[in-house]
Amino acid sequence: MSIPIYTYDAVIVGAGLAGNAAARELQKAGKKVAVITKLHPLRSHSGAAQGGINAAFSAKDSEELHMYDTIKGSDYLADQDAVAFMCNEAPKTIRWAERMGAVFSRTADGKIAQRPFGGQSEPRACYAKDRTGLTLLQTSYEQAHREGVLFFDEWYAADIIYKNGKISGVVAFNIRNMDKAIFNANAVMFATGGYARTYKINSNAHANTGDGLSIVARHGLPLEDMEFVQFHPSGLSGSGILISEAARGEGGKLLNSLGERFMSKYAPNAMELASRDVVARAIIEEIRQGRGVGPRKDAVYIDLTHLGAEKIMERLPELRDLAITFLGLDMIKEPILISATAHYSMGGIPVDIDGHVRKDNESFVEGFYAAGECACVSVHGANRLGANSVLEALLFGRHVGQSMAKDLDRGIALRPASLEDAQNMLDEMRFVLENNGTERVPELRTLLQESMTENAGVFRSEETLKKELVILDELEARYKNIRIEDKSKIFNTEMQEAIELGHMLDYARFIVDGALRRQESRGAHFREDFPARDDEKFLNHTMAYRDANGKIVSYPREVVLGRFEVKARAY
Ligand SMILES: Cc1cc2nc3c(=O)[nH]c(=O)nc-3n(C[C@H](O)[C@H](O)[C@H](O)COP(=O)(O)OP(=O)(O)OC[C@H]3O[C@@H](n4cnc5c(N)ncnc54)[C@H](O)[C@@H]3O)c2cc1C
Repeated sequence: MSIPIYTYDAVIVGAGLAGNAAARELQKAGKKVAVITKLHPLRSHSGAAQGGINAAFSAKDSEELHMYDTIKGSDYLADQDAVAFMCNEAPKTIRWAERMGAVFSRTADGKIAQRPFGGQSEPRACYAKDRTGLTLLQTSYEQAHREGVLFFDEWYAADIIYKNGKISGVVAFNIRNMDKAIFNANAVMFATGGYARTYKINSNAHANTGDGLSIVARHGLPLEDMEFVQFHPSGLSGSGILISEAARGEGGKLLNSLGERFMSKYAPNAMELASRDVVARAIIEEIRQGRGVGPRKDAVYIDLTHLGAEKIMERLPELRDLAITFLGLDMIKEPILISATAHYSMGGIPVDIDGHVRKDNESFVEGFYAAGECACVSVHGANRLGANSVLEALLFGRHVGQSMAKDLDRGIALRPASLEDAQNMLDEMRFVLENNGTERVPELRTLLQESMTENAGVFRSEETLKKELVILDELEARYKNIRIEDKSKIFNTEMQEAIELGHMLDYARFIVDGALRRQESRGAHFREDFPARDDEKFLNHTMAYRDANGKIVSYPREVVLGRFEVKARAY
């Protein structure tokens, strides 16, 4: 079979905020860039971000305060040099986006409006109504296009070409007709987004199956801090579709079945605006104690009625529509039902501030970069603050694009690709298409999502995590025995979903393994058997890789401290 080999200076996988921003910078610097994306760029999950993007520029705010909040919110696991870089660059990033054409909501006197979000000392989230991500995604995509970036829409990246410590391209197939291609490049960047689809109740797009992470891990490269999955306090009951933190930022009150504003018990000062992990645990605890509401008693109320119709229509119109469509409840007239939903992945592909992918604690993979949610810089540590992630994706996307352009100018060798480089992908496709077993992909996926929610969710313990490892063994064995019905080449989404399930099974094990080893509670990771934070043993990042036998091996990486003293948590 003949497979074309295309050659570029840089190939980027992913066309969300991080991928688009990087592609624009590279093309602007005169590089030949291709972006491979399994979705149309404007369907990337970045477009779902509702609430905002942080930058300290109001009179009472400062970059220093933004850093402090981010580090405290991270439960001191964030690398303080990376946080300092992000917070200092944030105001510039907003102005950059604005000058490229992103329209932000304004105050009456014409300044960019900012709303409060959990864990922040000042209202710091800039927004475009409750469509912030979509506005920025459209702008970044338009501008990348305008520079002449080549987009391969609906192409699925299935593998990297990695040999002797160097990456030299990506192998992909066209979802439309199964055409295959090898994208040979001096530099490759992953901007493949998050991985919360491994949980049953989640706020993520269907595409957020963490492919990028398992592709990297399958080559024995490390992943970092995978145990830290953020559960957002407010997903619509049943589906997990996000009701942005903007709802609490604008004054939403959380109530249990007794009508109590229960956050007064868990975070008497910050109340509903305590950081996400605290509010998510409070909600689940209320439900566990029998004070849940709704037909299944598995939700709590968020009450926004006191804001009035005008404010809701002005600030939260999309959220109101979502609750009407999916719950039949109008937040102008009545409280709506919410519960915690798997939302964001703090862990990912380990990188330094300039986006270089770490091979281990001492060295980097030549020609390989990552940015956005799939990367772990780490600016969020154990827990991300609201509105810091759109910022991370846009800011580091842009910065890493610039850093790649500089490295390319200094010279990154091009190792010519050959047809053998496509072999892993061809084997994977053949297995999924031709395997004649008895197991169904949707059933295995549901079992994975339900068991991860049950055993490695908001609350974890040695017992539940060990149980999950056994379930993962079973599911992996059953995966080897799958069969799909659709054997055609045109939009074979059944094949794609089977490949994606393979990825989900792979990285789920990293989440569970990391959670089991971390015998403490920090940020979003809460161990019922180790409820306290243990700085003595665990104030470090988890680096983990699969050895030649497929076993996960892990080792620590030091947290970069220095600017702010590590303190006990106070709510
Ligand atoms: C509902 C929701 C609301 C949010 N609201 C906010 C908010 O208000 N503020 C905030 O700061 N953060 C928010 N976040 C988080 C934030 O939106 C994301 O972390 C951020 O946008 C991620 O951007 P990204 O560019 O890294 O990835 P994404 O936008 O997810 O893009 C990933 C890209 O990778 C591509 N891709 C993945 N795998 C493959 C593959 N195998 N082959 C080819 N292409 C592939 C996809 O096609 C896509 O283009 C929200 C998240 C959700 C889910």
